[in-house]
Amino acid sequence: MTLPPFALHRPHSLEEAEDLLAQHGDEAAVYCGGTELLLVMKLGLAAYSNLVDLKGIPELRVFEERNGTLRVGAAVTHHELESSPFVHRLFPALAEMERRVANVRVRSMGTLGGNLCFSDPHSDPATFLLASGAELVCRRGAAERTIPIGEFVRGPYETALEAGELLTEIRIPVLPVGAALVHEKFAMHERPALTVSCYMRADDGHIVDTRIAVGSVSATPGRVTEAETLLVDVPVESAADQALLAGEIAAEHVAPFADLNGSVEYKRNLVRVFVSRCCTAAVERLRRT
Ligand SMILES: Cc1cc2nc3c(=O)[nH]c(=O)nc-3n(C[C@H](O)[C@H](O)[C@H](O)COP(=O)(O)OP(=O)(O)OC[C@H]3O[C@@H](n4cnc5c(N)ncnc54)[C@H](O)[C@@H]3O)c2cc1C
Repeated sequence: MTLPPFALHRPHSLEEAEDLLAQHGDEAAVYCGGTELLLVMKLGLAAYSNLVDLKGIPELRVFEERNGTLRVGAAVTHHELESSPFVHRLFPALAEMERRVANVRVRSMGTLGGNLCFSDPHSDPATFLLASGAELVCRRGAAERTIPIGEFVRGPYETALEAGELLTEIRIPVLPVGAALVHEKFAMHERPALTVSCYMRADDGHIVDTRIAVGSVSATPGRVTEAETLLVDVPVESAADQALLAGEIAAEHVAPFADLNGSVEYKRNLVRVFVSRCCTAAVERLRRT
């Protein structure tokens, strides 16, 4: 496996990157860490004679909290998120999820934006961000739009990005008081066979909002609303049985595909066990807050 030759461009602004894309058209691709793009090029599955490295663009490296929303530039690496004291303080669940993505080499180079834009069905962040209600900021020239994560991920290796459009920022609502967000995964190979995230918020001792996202078992991550409704308007202290039942209901309603990770039946079983476990952990966290 050798990488075919290409010209490397290192723009310092979004405008410069967009000019390069316009100039080279289908011959060019952007990249951040290159952990996916360079691999598919080495395998001969994609060919570009021009690569545009986005890492030097300051707007894509932002990392800040504004009005209760964490804004993460698309070129921020998994390792930066997992190791940042700022993220640990503001959003420990995000740091926890990032710490379990891939291995340290991939986390050091790979970015949150690259993970979402590649849209591999086996993604920890895509599932986590769906449960957290994140939005993605995309831009092409002067046109900027904000897309909920559930609409951004369209299918395996397919996103809502249009030709020449760039993902610039991921906006994640910081957990409000009384909320918990738990992420679980199961992996036999390098990438996860199953990812589950559960967001819950309680008010006055009752669970008032629940979002359960299941990913990596089918083409795209999805919410399981049938299981979520079991965990709304329930006293936190007596939600344990509902959390277990949520796994049963989720297993009935997901639509897994069979692949190297296992059969449809096996994946339904994984969903049953891990959704129950994830919801139980979220209820536990609510009890402790
Ligand atoms: C061995 C291995 C194990 C892994 N394990 C896991 C795992 O456990 N969990 C998990 O979730 N993921 C896993 N991954 C995936 C990993 O998280 C991604 O490889 C990484 O995040 C991709 O980021 P990148 O910056 O390297 O992407 P790149 O390779 O730079 O880009 C990926 C794609 O996105 C496009 N792109 C990148 N940035 C932008 C942008 N700003 N705007 C528009 N398009 C853009 C590129 O053109 C390319 O098509 C694994 C990967 C490997 C290789």
